[in-house]
Amino acid sequence: MALNNQRAMRIAIVGAGIGGLTAAAALHQRGFEVALYERAAQLGEVGAGLQMGPNAVKVINALGLGEQFQKIAAEPRVRVSLNWNDGAVRVREPYKGAMEEKFGARYQMAHRSDVHKLLQSLIPEDAIHTSAQCVAVENREGGAAIRLANGKEVEADVVIGADGIHSAVRTALFGRSQARFTNQICWRIILPMEELHRAADRLPVPLDGSEYTGWLGPTGHVLFYPLRNGELLNIFAGRVSEKWADENWAVPSPITDLLEAYEGWHPGMLHVLSKATEAYKWGIHDRDPLDRWVVGRTALLGDAAHPMMPTLAQGAAISMEDGYAIARCLELGRSNPDAALATYEHERRPRATRVQLQARKQFENNQLVPPPPPLPVDWIYGYDVVNMPLKLIEMA
Ligand SMILES: Cc1cc2nc3c(=O)[nH]c(=O)nc-3n(C[C@H](O)[C@H](O)[C@H](O)COP(=O)(O)OP(=O)(O)OC[C@H]3O[C@@H](n4cnc5c(N)ncnc54)[C@H](O)[C@@H]3O)c2cc1C
Repeated sequence: MALNNQRAMRIAIVGAGIGGLTAAAALHQRGFEVALYERAAQLGEVGAGLQMGPNAVKVINALGLGEQFQKIAAEPRVRVSLNWNDGAVRVREPYKGAMEEKFGARYQMAHRSDVHKLLQSLIPEDAIHTSAQCVAVENREGGAAIRLANGKEVEADVVIGADGIHSAVRTALFGRSQARFTNQICWRIILPMEELHRAADRLPVPLDGSEYTGWLGPTGHVLFYPLRNGELLNIFAGRVSEKWADENWAVPSPITDLLEAYEGWHPGMLHVLSKATEAYKWGIHDRDPLDRWVVGRTALLGDAAHPMMPTLAQGAAISMEDGYAIARCLELGRSNPDAALATYEHERRPRATRVQLQARKQFENNQLVPPPPPLPVDWIYGYDVVNMPLKLIEMA
């Protein structure tokens, strides 16, 4: 159904994560009336690093955040791959500048909460509603409505479900999805960079923190990379485990559990891990891609649409692409939101599904001994959602 051109289209977004905020910012910049409904009492993000592939940095730049982003991000100088037990160098290759030359934007690391704050800065304060948990969604003639836990109902021309892996909007549209525990558990830690510097004489090779370092073993890996221009060291540790672990990122883990899980690994690496004062642990779960993302005037984006394993470090990047793409589609179909949403699904679902399936395949490959060469990622990093040609789908 066509929309009356006299007023701005109203868009209700459920979830103020990285995908929802990107969509809100890009839509607001295009003159849409946007309202965000976030379950949490306060906006924020967990303390963890985020790898921003060139495809995500292109979105940041297009939103006008490039300069501010450069102040909070880090670009590793080299990539170093070390053996888990003796620390022997497997690979050492230049990193800084190489990605920009090849893919048109840098591959950078940032603190999740810094990226979150930057995106939030583009959205009017009164458009963000916190303590607003969506519990139901209903498509209506020419629009859709959400119901919040406090009983309030909100009507909009379009509802976007950007409410993450356990999406209530997805469940309302398609029922509860099946998740499979992958027997992989992960920890996240952030340390002041000085801890790495202090450990210098225990490390197998000099590391000053400007590297993207991977310690690789047969049943696990540990990544070190810099955040905030090298002020912080982000550590991501993944390990095969028989013990089931929750999918929740915010479960604290005793440091002793982490050290036990990596018993026998290089003592210098363990020494750095031992400096953590807090660590968080979670289990990686896997879900199948969805066949549809849009029903009526309700659309999914981000993890709600394509919950993927973290193997390619692309979940947030693809969510940002979605957020930017849905704004472009709605702009193109300002007077025809149904055609705009059909175009969005047509453009985004195949790409996100392909990334989701490659993340699964790469995860499986990583378990093989020896692992085969990494799957190609040029098609992921080289993509430019900002400038991709877009044509509105004609509706019957
Ligand atoms: C271990 C790990 C490492 C990762 N590393 C990277 C990386 O380096 N690079 C990368 O690109 N990606 C990475 N990812 C993936 C990335 O974190 C996610 O894909 C990304 O956060 C998805 O963004 P989102 O906005 O879709 O969902 P989320 O960030 O989960 O946001 C959803 C929001 O919705 C809110 N919400 C939930 N339910 C409701 C409701 N009913 N009503 C209202 N609000 C609701 C939540 O509170 C939350 O704020 C990683 C993931 C994992 C697990």
